Amino acid sequence: MTGSVLEVDLDLLAANLDRVRTAVAPAELMLVVKNDAYGHGLDPVVERAEREGVRWFGAFDVLTGARVRRLAGDGARIFVWIADTPAQVSAALASDLDIGVGDRRLLEDILARGGTGHPARVHLKIDTGLRRNGVRPEEWPDFVATAAAGERAGALVVEGIWSHIAEASDEEDDLARARFDDAVRVAEAAGLRPRLRHLAASAASFARPEFRYDLARVGAFCYGIRPAGGPDEEALGIRPIARWEASVLAVEGDVARIAVGARDGLFRTLASRVEVATPGGRRGLLAVHGSTSDVRAWPGAAAGDRVVIFGDAGKDEETATSLAESIGTIGEEVAVRVSPLVPRRYRGRR
Ligand SMILES: *Cc1c(COP(=O)(O)O)cnc(C)c1O
Repeated sequence: MTGSVLEVDLDLLAANLDRVRTAVAPAELMLVVKNDAYGHGLDPVVERAEREGVRWFGAFDVLTGARVRRLAGDGARIFVWIADTPAQVSAALASDLDIGVGDRRLLEDILARGGTGHPARVHLKIDTGLRRNGVRPEEWPDFVATAAAGERAGALVVEGIWSHIAEASDEEDDLARARFDDAVRVAEAAGLRPRLRHLAASAASFARPEFRYDLARVGAFCYGIRPAGGPDEEALGIRPIARWEASVLAVEGDVARIAVGARDGLFRTLASRVEVATPGGRRGLLAVHGSTSDVRAWPGAAAGDRVVIFGDAGKDEETATSLAESIGTIGEEVAVRVSPLVPRRYRGRR
């Protein structure tokens, strides 16, 4: 075939899920599937994860959450943390989603529904310093008091308290964790009994046991995407589940033209900074055009040969994160940039 294809190995996903669950225990894994499961394809990822026994999914928005509900069935717990309008609140409740609530207006939208015999399951979000949304500490006592009143009135049940941290420096994260613990105490003093506290994503939940609490919201590591500048895949015990391959369209002198370019989501800035894996070994990526790119040719290069843009680090391959490191970004950015128009091919889809 000509063009490029993203091959996703769901058996590797299953192995990573095992590894992550062991690493974050006794906290439970919440598999984060935002951005079309980090570009890997929501449906196959959720179907396989459900079969592997994953019970919690982090869906980000209500539309994705509703889709995960259809894929994963009634037994799954599905967390969304963006619900902007009363209509979205209704849609979230219709799909039995758990809703992250990080501002007073959303809390009031939920209270306005009154419960109607089916209280909303909410997770209250404290801003522990990231300032991305979340209730500021000075507003928290009033916020949890309102939520507690709503719980007594049967409009909602506060299932969890949560926050998001930068995972950039231990000192900052420690400060965030202290604020988080304070917020939990204030909520309990207001009469709430949240069973689920969640704070950490991939990096902190692996490296720092005290950040695991009851749920670990993990995306990157489940897909085998290691942190830029951090420990490698072997140290983490994970493997990248995706391989992005492109075919050679033509060879002209010293240049092999391959069927993948900026329109497919390949960063133009990678040109002359990285190499790709070819049948003749690693070769420099010389230029990235709109729908093609130029690679330094290898002996015997011919139309139809396949090259690997990123893969699982074996056989001369770069990974999403190693590419990212060469242009100062993170592996997730490289993975989610692969255009939805690039066909996905799945291994291990049963
Ligand atoms: C994306 C996201 C995560 C997962 O982060 P990873 O580093 O990919 O594990 C967890 N929580 C929230 C709120 C997120 O937005």
